[in-house]
Amino acid sequence: MKRIELQILLFSALIVTLPAHLEGSTVRIRLHAALKPETVVFAVRTGEYMMEIPGMEDVRIAPTKPVILFASEGRVAVKWGTGRGVIADSVRFAPAGSAETSHSFSVSVPGVAGERQYKGSMVCRNDNGIFLLLNETDIESYLPGVVLAEGGPGRHREFYKAQAVLARTFAWQNLSKHAADGYNICDDVHCQAYHGIIRDEDVTGAVKETSGIVMVTSDSVPALPAFHSNCGGETASASDAWVTSLPHLQSVADPFCLSSRNATWRASLTTGAWINFLRKNDFTGDPASPGAISFNQDVRKPFFVPGNGIQIPVRSVRTEFGLRSSFFSLIASGDSVIIDGRGYGHGVGMCQEGAMEMARQGYSFERILSFYFRGISLIDIADARQPPVIR
Ligand SMILES: [Zn+2]
Ligand SMILES: [Zn+2]
Repeated sequence: MKRIELQILLFSALIVTLPAHLEGSTVRIRLHAALKPETVVFAVRTGEYMMEIPGMEDVRIAPTKPVILFASEGRVAVKWGTGRGVIADSVRFAPAGSAETSHSFSVSVPGVAGERQYKGSMVCRNDNGIFLLLNETDIESYLPGVVLAEGGPGRHREFYKAQAVLARTFAWQNLSKHAADGYNICDDVHCQAYHGIIRDEDVTGAVKETSGIVMVTSDSVPALPAFHSNCGGETASASDAWVTSLPHLQSVADPFCLSSRNATWRASLTTGAWINFLRKNDFTGDPASPGAISFNQDVRKPFFVPGNGIQIPVRSVRTEFGLRSSFFSLIASGDSVIIDGRGYGHGVGMCQEGAMEMARQGYSFERILSFYFRGISLIDIADARQPPVIR
């Protein structure tokens, strides 16, 4: 949610950037961005890696010999082999030997179970007390991990293809998101969740089969690739959900998600909590009047109208009470207000559970995306404009 709102703010700025091509280009990703670890264990998994430290001869790192990195007084302490160590400003691990060989490494940090594996190179540096781990890899080998993290395991291949196009489109239009920080994108939900390379063949296959495809609007600019878990039978327009109107993000009736896990939910509040909320929103009328409590959303409505000329955005009700969606009806019941809700998430763009059902019924990823996004085209990234890659 936060990501999408931020993205909307950036959206108009991004579309005026006139960029070069992304094909075959690299992306620099900040690893463990949310956790900000200060101790890291690097180990080679496949191929050979060289460790590069400024002012020192390069060191070949054997797969059986991990390297330990930790923040030390604004610099990076590096330990490897038996008792060897150095304090440096930065350290870089780069693939060595034949380009044909697969090169991969793992990163382990305290507080995260297991290790995460990556391709490409990694730089570790201490940037004014901020310990940065930056993985540089090609964008197509980054995408499967994003698709699995955002789409979940065990889904239909065609659903993964739709999710892959969204992930690629997001990466493409957000290459400058962390430009001021010296990298492209972070591995946290702030950008797109990424937990490293994965081996699930349905996911890697879906990325390969949609290689280079991105989603653009009728104006040939990147479409905002919003998605959510379940829309409850009707997606929300961007203007209702975020007060920013985007022609490709309009409400559509979605019959596909109605039997899915997150289609309906129920919550309850005390009548007192509800009345407090109404008062906080300047409602001065009689809280016992039917209009102050009962509310019906057969179809999505942007506002709850208790009377007195007050309009309360349904998204404010969602935020206030931590509801699963803003698509709900209210019924008074004794001392409680029962909330009968539909869907899960902001409701804008692709409904994941609807898309999964469409995939099961044989719809292609192109049909799925054009069902949820109005007037979009799927084009090859090589024919598209995009923000420049940071070097
Ligand atoms: Zn980020
Ligand atoms: Zn839906």
